[in-house]
Amino acid sequence: MSNITVSSLSKIYKVPYRKPGISASIKHFFDRKYKLITAVDDISFKIDEGEIVGFIGANGAGKTTTLKMLCGLVYPTKGIVSVSGFIPKERNAAFLSQITLVMGQKQQLIWDLPPIETLKVNAAVYGISEKEAKKRIDELASMLELNDELFQPVRKLSLGQRMKSELLASLIHRPSVLFLDEPTLGLDVNAQLRVREFLSMYNKRFNATILLTSHYMQDISSLCKRVVVIHKGRIFYDGALTKLTNKLSPYRNVRIEFDKPQTLDDLKEYCEITQIDYAIATIVVPSSKLSFVVSYLLNNYTIKDLQVIETPLENIISELIRNGTN
Ligand code: ATP
Repeated sequence: MSNITVSSLSKIYKVPYRKPGISASIKHFFDRKYKLITAVDDISFKIDEGEIVGFIGANGAGKTTTLKMLCGLVYPTKGIVSVSGFIPKERNAAFLSQITLVMGQKQQLIWDLPPIETLKVNAAVYGISEKEAKKRIDELASMLELNDELFQPVRKLSLGQRMKSELLASLIHRPSVLFLDEPTLGLDVNAQLRVREFLSMYNKRFNATILLTSHYMQDISSLCKRVVVIHKGRIFYDGALTKLTNKLSPYRNVRIEFDKPQTLDDLKEYCEITQIDYAIATIVVPSSKLSFVVSYLLNNYTIKDLQVIETPLENIISELIRNGTN
């Protein structure tokens, strides 16, 4: 069943516009000119309950605007949005208690206070009893591997500890729909991994629906089976991530380290041998033949190391956008 439905949704911002200079400022005061910015342009998609969908696109593509419309923070210019049966722009209390919006570049924790204080305030705002709040904090803190950090002033926490505490504060009301805008922004590789593992756990434990934007393609590839690609406000692709990768990247690079130099003549009809450097070879294999070639190599050669190198998702998305705009 669809939990989120977006139908022919558009957002056009009207922004005051004036030329530089004092005379232009005076003229602008009496005669305001505006320009229209189409941030989101007639998009439609549906997301099922419990699904995790990656929402990706370049800077300024319209991702944040869409998320804000899904939360009811920005009014659509045109179109229909429904989230868990609610119309977001009405900002119904029952709706607000079911959703959360986490923005990597915005923080709700108070800088000089420990996160636990904000957590208590949030629990009170959502009408959660002290006992229940403690239970939820303990549960989420253990999933996030947070302990003493909750009792230290936010300013003393690392970026990773802060982001995990932000997530905890945004989830204390146990929302079933999560809108995540760059939740791993600026985090190091380990902290990114922790956040990803946590989101996957939260999704499974509470059957939460998650719409995630991230410029770190590792976030998307490890969490989302489905992606929606947006470019200049319009949807370019909506479907399985693997289908997108297979369509735009039908080959895989494989790096093999043998026990001794090899010519690989027997493999030439199945793949292209791009480089042989002493006992290390790099070959390009069609995705459809990958499992055959890898098992052939393992059965017929002594292999010290074998790596299948995926085409970076960034390259695939740029390729998609380039093809679409041509
Ligand atoms: P990023 O990845 O950089 O966060 P994004 O895909 O989230 O980008 P949006 O922030 O939705 O993109 O912006 C889409 C377009 O709308 C951009 O051209 C932006 O300048 C414009 N825009 C966003 N918010 C406003 C606003 N409040 N007023 C006017 N224009 C805006």
